[in-house]
Amino acid sequence: MPVIGVLALQGDVREHVLALEEAGADAKPVRRLAEIEAVDGLVIPGGESTTLWKLATAFELMDPLSKLIAGGLPAFGSCAGMIMLADRLQDGVHGQQTFGGIDMTVRRNAFGRQVDSFERDITLRDDEYGEPFHAVFIRAPWVERAGPDVDVLAEDNGRIIAVRHGALLATAFHPELTQDRRIHKLFTQIVKGSS
Ligand code: GLN
Repeated sequence: MPVIGVLALQGDVREHVLALEEAGADAKPVRRLAEIEAVDGLVIPGGESTTLWKLATAFELMDPLSKLIAGGLPAFGSCAGMIMLADRLQDGVHGQQTFGGIDMTVRRNAFGRQVDSFERDITLRDDEYGEPFHAVFIRAPWVERAGPDVDVLAEDNGRIIAVRHGALLATAFHPELTQDRRIHKLFTQIVKGSS
């Protein structure tokens, strides 16, 4: 069973731990670098990316985590976690940094100008004949631009909202807040395949 850590600096850590366990992983919250180095994959939860960035800086995790991710550590980020995995950020606060890893530009609070939070049934690519996925968006980002090696997994009204880049996965929505485990299962498979 792959061991997947959930970065426990801030955000909906517990929901991801439960979802990962239901998806067949051995999941646990991780905070210190030594704990993160011991897992097969890492989830970066939704929350607030500016807070994640500040806490990761205070815990001296920005640089080591960027390097682990660049070196092949599988990672999945939802919402604020998607922001943290973006190589480029739009509408961040002054000086805001990300771990990076996915060749994409993410626009923070992108939907927020029209509406703060909403739920929508979306279609996951490669699962076109499966059930729609009920997606929860909370002050969500979207992917403004994705590089050529990035697979787009889902779009909403022409906006990219889920991507995969090698062993890295990111969603603008929060699959940990619903009961559908397809995204967590996909990530668990990615982690299994790369360890
Ligand atoms: N808007 C938040 C941010 O910038 C993300 C919101 C979320 O994770 N639900 O980090």
